[in-house]
Amino acid sequence: MALIVQKFGGTSVATPEKIKAVAKKVIQFKNQGNKMVVVLSAMAGETNRFVDMASQIQSQPDSREMDVLLASGEQVTIALFAMAVKEAGYDAISLLGDQVKIITDRMHTKARIKSIDTELIEENLNKDKIVVVAGFQGVTDESHITTLGRGGSDTTAVALAAALKADKCEIFTDVEGVYTTDPNVCNLAKKISRISYDEMLELASLGAKVLDIRSVSFAKRYNVPLHVRSTFTDTEGTWVVEEDKDMESMLVSGVTYNKNEARITISKIKDTPGIASKIFTPISDAGIIVDMIIQNTRAGDLTDMTFTVPRNEYNKAIAIVQKIGDEIGAESVTGSESIAKVSIVGVGMRNNSGIATTMFHILSKEGINIQMISTSEIKVSCVIDEKYTELAVRSLHEAFELDKEDQN
Ligand code: ADP
Ligand code: ASP
Ligand code: MG
Repeated sequence: MALIVQKFGGTSVATPEKIKAVAKKVIQFKNQGNKMVVVLSAMAGETNRFVDMASQIQSQPDSREMDVLLASGEQVTIALFAMAVKEAGYDAISLLGDQVKIITDRMHTKARIKSIDTELIEENLNKDKIVVVAGFQGVTDESHITTLGRGGSDTTAVALAAALKADKCEIFTDVEGVYTTDPNVCNLAKKISRISYDEMLELASLGAKVLDIRSVSFAKRYNVPLHVRSTFTDTEGTWVVEEDKDMESMLVSGVTYNKNEARITISKIKDTPGIASKIFTPISDAGIIVDMIIQNTRAGDLTDMTFTVPRNEYNKAIAIVQKIGDEIGAESVTGSESIAKVSIVGVGMRNNSGIATTMFHILSKEGINIQMISTSEIKVSCVIDEKYTELAVRSLHEAFELDKEDQN
């Protein structure tokens, strides 16, 4: 008897009909003799609707109350799902994050899981019930409701799979697996049958929202076999696994884009020891995660610093930087919210030079200006004007022949 954790995303549970269909699917797995834990997201569009309502009430919504609001979407789907299972003649129990005791830190709206108590889930599995857990939510030691950041239900599922020592974790979604790029942007995208944890970490962190990045970190750390697949077909999806030799034969495995960042530049500041710390400490104290950072040297002892922050924290970040700019005598603080980061990822890059140059050449051929560049062992990212995102993704996908070869 295997223990399987299955997670279904918002589009999979968007209507009562779809919830009934998913319940039938899970029951089939149960009938094959498996113990089933199901993690659900809110119905598609619900979390966005809550965010929108909150912004109509408070310009910077209170983060504690925001979490109480956001967590309500998953409460609806788990209850309806448990009803659907019972209606089909089987037994189920729905559990919220605080009932399970998914304990997180206090970082409201982007909390991290600290521990999971598996007792209540195991007790109910032993009573032959399908256990249905609300994704995306947890609770602090002080009993405040928290959420894990957008897309966080994937993380709930993998973290539960790790804590329960499940045999596998399956992420069911609206596409058939992880593709060489977003199949909704490039119709030549190919499904990848196996991808390494490290490549998937990069793809997820660079914008491939098919898996939440923290779910991949958990999977890698606890060696959880992770299978991304479609809710609407029975086709085998993508396995996220340890790297092997075959994977290195592909120079580039995927192309991603991220339109959720914004750029900030602080100009003509004194190039002295401690300047970076002066700028970035208050930003990190505010819980804002800075991504790319570039420092330019000007003539004399002046320098410019350009960096990116999550777009939804742009206003907060620029206000902080403006204050520091005044204090340290910067000439100006400017920024843009209409940028995109386009990236190529692949473990094969490690042993091959010239991949970055090819990327720059392809973008220049399309007349796309590169504003910032960052590289790591297995990725190259360029910040460009947001309006060229789709063009850049398709051109890179074609140039690296991701539409042609068999994808692992
Ligand atoms: P869910 O609601 O099931 O969690 P998401 O919308 O979060 O689903 O993630 C699935 C979406 O991820 C797909 O519809 C697709 O548009 C997008 N996506 C982006 N990059 C990729 C990729 N490389 N492979 C597959 N899907 C991708
Ligand atoms: N409902 C949450 C969101 O829309 C969590 C999730 O779907 O994973 O971000
Ligand atoms: Mg998702």
